[in-house]
Amino acid sequence: MDASDIDGDLVNVLFTEAEIQAKLGELAEKIERDYAGEDLLIVGILRGAVMVMADMARAFSGHIEMDWMAVSSYGSGTKSSGVVRILKDLDTDISGRHVLIVDEIIDTGLTLSWLTANLASRSPASVEICTLLRKPEALQMPVDVKYVGWDIPNEFVVGYGLDYQERYRNLRDIGTLAPHVYS
Ligand code: IMP
Ligand code: MG
Repeated sequence: MDASDIDGDLVNVLFTEAEIQAKLGELAEKIERDYAGEDLLIVGILRGAVMVMADMARAFSGHIEMDWMAVSSYGSGTKSSGVVRILKDLDTDISGRHVLIVDEIIDTGLTLSWLTANLASRSPASVEICTLLRKPEALQMPVDVKYVGWDIPNEFVVGYGLDYQERYRNLRDIGTLAPHVYS
């Protein structure tokens, strides 16, 4: 789905498909450099991080392993509930492993600060975070993020994995959702 397919639902396109791919390439290069010689497990947070995981994983030139977690932090609307629950846990034992959590967006930071502490308690060699987007103005919990694609304003965005009521995840670009869609 392209922005032109949902004409009127977006206020603007923030990042095009090409810009997103270029950014993921840069992030993958940095990560590979930082973890050179190490065994890296990247953990994608379902469902939003599916696109980032798929494209970033393929941007790596070396081996990585992939695993997935699903947590609930949002209802079906546009506000964070602050309640975190594990819906699907890792299949991998991470003790002694280098773990990189991959997410598409950090909003309040509640989900990832909780998740980082949870994974850190399983004795990994390290736990770091990579996120494509971050909303600095929305942060409610300090989260130490090692890799950030872009900082964005505190607006509700969709596309490239990001949804509004499960829609728009398959939009190729990332755009700001027009308020008339959710009000
Ligand atoms: P946090 O716990 O508030 O940081 O929220 C984390 C999760 O909320 C993200 O992984 C997204 O799934 C969802 N989320 C936060 N902001 C947005 C947005 O602007 N659009 C779509 N989903 C969002
Ligand atoms: Mg998410």
